[in-house]
Amino acid sequence: MGQPRAVAQLMAAARCPVHAYLLHGPPGSGKRAAARALAAALLCPSGGCGACNSCRRALLGSHPDLVTVEHSGASLDVDEARVITMRAQRHPLESARQVLMVSDIHLAGRAAPALLKTIEEPPAATVFVLVADDLPAGLATIVSRCLQISFDAVPPKAVTAWLIGHGADPALAESVAAASGGRLDRARLLVNDAGFAERQQQWRSVPSRLDGSGAMAANVASGLLGSADEALTPLREQHALEKAELAEQAETAGSKAIPGRKQVEDRHKREERRWRTDDLRFGLAALAEVYRDRLVDTVGPDAEPTSPGDAAERRRAAGQVDAIREASAALGRNANESLLMDALMVVLSEMPD
Ligand SMILES: [Zn+2]
Repeated sequence: MGQPRAVAQLMAAARCPVHAYLLHGPPGSGKRAAARALAAALLCPSGGCGACNSCRRALLGSHPDLVTVEHSGASLDVDEARVITMRAQRHPLESARQVLMVSDIHLAGRAAPALLKTIEEPPAATVFVLVADDLPAGLATIVSRCLQISFDAVPPKAVTAWLIGHGADPALAESVAAASGGRLDRARLLVNDAGFAERQQQWRSVPSRLDGSGAMAANVASGLLGSADEALTPLREQHALEKAELAEQAETAGSKAIPGRKQVEDRHKREERRWRTDDLRFGLAALAEVYRDRLVDTVGPDAEPTSPGDAAERRRAAGQVDAIREASAALGRNANESLLMDALMVVLSEMPD
């Protein structure tokens, strides 16, 4: 939902396969789910029926001819580019082709030239499905070799409407939509998450709990990290269902081992890591909003400062919001979460009300 243009492009794309696709758009706009659907269509003997064994395994991520490559560090490095090139040379195991799905290709940076040759001329049975949050200049040559499918951010209003349409209480739908940052995957899980309101409150109450002491700062930081762990519960429940489905598929096929299990478990791990980081970032955004609201309450959004105290107040609030923004950006760069949150709470403590 929310991506009619991308869906139409995808359907057309799967009908006449090309050697490389590039799905790009902001985080949470549904690119990864769409990439798996595209892979399923490319691997399905009937062109993407959505119901056959091949489709079901591709959608779950357990199909042997669907290879997912993710970078391990902060960017996709040259060694990882080499692995991708080697994988591309392999023959499909059971389908007519194999699909190589590469996440975060926008982080390829220096590895981009090493990938170019394989991506522009892969072996006949290999199809690339690349996924990117944005398209930096260094990626221009790769971009030009792919069929591009672009995704838009889903506006919060559309998320609210979608949740209400699925039976959510309107007030809850609105707060979940705000905390989802326009991400349907998050919204869908958060709306059924009993601990959601409590976690929101935990973030929003940070300024009133910080008392200037280092002990309290550490206490608040560890509480927030704990809440990010709790936030994983609904995702883990969904993963348990997927594992059950995988086991059922193996049983139906009469297989003792569970094929594709490692692939699915790896995907679950990646999703959990991403989910946790996202949860912290959305929490930080809620916290920044509290400080911003305070600023607006005291001095008004556009008014000129009327006194030196007023100006100092503004500087302090602006400093707090900046510190939060920097912490949020650092989370995206794989910084140590625990150190980061400790440091942030100390900085916010040192700027008491
Ligand atoms: Zn199928």
